[in-house]
Amino acid sequence: MRLGVMGGTFDPIHHGHLVAASEVAARYDLDEVVFVPTGKPWQKTRPDIAPAEHRYLMTVIATASNPQFTVSRVDIDRDGETYTIDTLRDLAAQRPGAELFFITGADALAQLLSWKDADRLWDLAHFVGVTRPGHQLSDHGLPATGVSLMEVPALAISSTDCRRRVQDGLPVWYLVPDGVVQHISKHALYSARPPGG
Ligand code: ATP
Ligand code: MG
Repeated sequence: MRLGVMGGTFDPIHHGHLVAASEVAARYDLDEVVFVPTGKPWQKTRPDIAPAEHRYLMTVIATASNPQFTVSRVDIDRDGETYTIDTLRDLAAQRPGAELFFITGADALAQLLSWKDADRLWDLAHFVGVTRPGHQLSDHGLPATGVSLMEVPALAISSTDCRRRVQDGLPVWYLVPDGVVQHISKHALYSARPPGG
């Protein structure tokens, strides 16, 4: 069993996340990619992060049509801040014998070595860094083993930009899956305005 692990805040999940997961799954012959929305991400100080339950639901909606994609609650159901070492340990315990591939964008890879217990991460998973527009893949002084870099089709989409567009009344159609557009609108996420108002 080869299991991809795509961690993220997913506030909201967008097509950049989905394409990255799909490309890595094909290249590394993964059986499944589990998306893991973070609980309280320690890297993010943003106070207005959407409730975990909404980020979880949007991730479920976005991945529902792909039989290879699943969503895990391990991070949002664990108390305290989210550390990748805990994510990987919990998933490894749930899937004995699975080989884990942690998928991350170039920006997040840059922070790899600053993670809590970074040196113990390498025993738990293989790390796959994917290109992300605006971030260099190569110049982060990564360790020679345990990390692979991969080019994926560049989609210049970020959750930050999606949130800003909603706030400004601009469309996010085709940046995020249709069901996510509708979830955002239905629950008036990222917007001070009431639905329909
Ligand atoms: P924010 O703008 O709020 O930081 P984000 O778009 O970076 O959101 P995250 O949930 O922080 O989304 O990202 C989860 C993972 O997906 C990270 O490893 C990130 O590098 C990667 N990622 C995000 N957007 C892209 C993209 N367009 N292409 C490739 N990887 C991406
Ligand atoms: Mg980010």
